[in-house]
Amino acid sequence: MKDYFKNNPDEKGFFGEYGGSFIPPDLQKEMDKITEGYFTISKSHDFISELRSIRKHFQGRPTPVYYAKELSRMTGGRIYLKREDLNHTGAHKLNHCMGEALLAKYLGKKKLIAETGAGQHGVALATAAAYFGLECEIHMGEVDIAKEHPNVIRMKLLGAKVIPVTFGLKTLKEAVDSAFTAYLEDPINSIYCIGSVVGPHPFPMMVRDFQRVVGIEAKEQFYEMTGEMPDNVCACVGGGSNAMGIFSAFLQEEDVSIYGVEPMGRSEEIGDHAATMKFGIPGLIHGFKCYNLQDEKGEPLPVYSIASGLDYPGVGPEHSMLRDLEKVNYVGASDEECLDAFYTLSRKEGIIPALESSHAVAFAMKLAKEKPRQSILVNLSGRGDKDIDFIVDNFGIRE
Ligand SMILES: *Cc1c(COP(=O)(O)O)cnc(C)c1O
Repeated sequence: MKDYFKNNPDEKGFFGEYGGSFIPPDLQKEMDKITEGYFTISKSHDFISELRSIRKHFQGRPTPVYYAKELSRMTGGRIYLKREDLNHTGAHKLNHCMGEALLAKYLGKKKLIAETGAGQHGVALATAAAYFGLECEIHMGEVDIAKEHPNVIRMKLLGAKVIPVTFGLKTLKEAVDSAFTAYLEDPINSIYCIGSVVGPHPFPMMVRDFQRVVGIEAKEQFYEMTGEMPDNVCACVGGGSNAMGIFSAFLQEEDVSIYGVEPMGRSEEIGDHAATMKFGIPGLIHGFKCYNLQDEKGEPLPVYSIASGLDYPGVGPEHSMLRDLEKVNYVGASDEECLDAFYTLSRKEGIIPALESSHAVAFAMKLAKEKPRQSILVNLSGRGDKDIDFIVDNFGIRE
């Protein structure tokens, strides 16, 4: 783990055998320009100080670390929450969106293009576009548009154009395909802002770098509160950006156990979960190599999770490598466990978590019971306001 960030990814964008860039030559030329621009610009004093100022004055960082006293008492563990739900727009995603949009500004781009699942990435990117005065086009599956109506309204209020995606399962995977196609039409004036640590190089690296602030803050805050390192760190894994954000600060700590929590959905049948690490195999998806859920022909399999932001058939290349290195343990939480954690955190701590984040909380509650007295630092990646209509319509208000 020495020189970890210097060597990962390597100069071709590989994390071990994963990642890289498997895209048409025309697009590769554009990616190379972005990579080059990122390496130069991200080291410049102006870029760093502007990003720092945005984080503090616009986003409201640092977000706090909170000791969840009731959750701890109920489970017998010591559970701490890194409150990314308090980051502006209600999730960790604004961390990389402001970074990507700032880069776009320095590269002279006029338009930001992206896909969105739960709508959180779309809202975060639309926010960044509004902040910088850039155009914004968000591709979103029709199924998600119906489920995440408030976020669709937010994006429109922020001035973004929302493009409904009507083919396939009409969710995140198809939205990525659609956004990619739109980007290829004008890669000179637009930039494709990927919503997680996925896609071709340099995106898994850039998005991770922009998210590292979460781990850097959390490590310092946790140490200030307790005088020690956490015994365990956990986060939910969709593409894996909030997880990489917090994990990155602890990869060098030998005594910290790290857990990535995948959505186990409603059963182990194909199409009922999005547990990429548990059931997937290495292969290509969306221009990079990672573990993914695919058929014999290499086509992505249908995926599902109660949390729209987690239903992606691939996963970040860095996670794929960390799994093979056994540096991170990839575990799961089902829809039912997620719901239980959602209601418990709302009722017992006064925090309504996103359904995505509820997966991490669910696992932390299980772990706390297995390992009493140990501390667990959970990345609470987002707030649940976007999910409340869906929850109440389908599951009611549980006592
Ligand atoms: C999008 C989202 C996720 C999943 O994305 P990652 O890249 O895996 O972090 C998790 N939590 C929230 C609140 C989200 O909006």
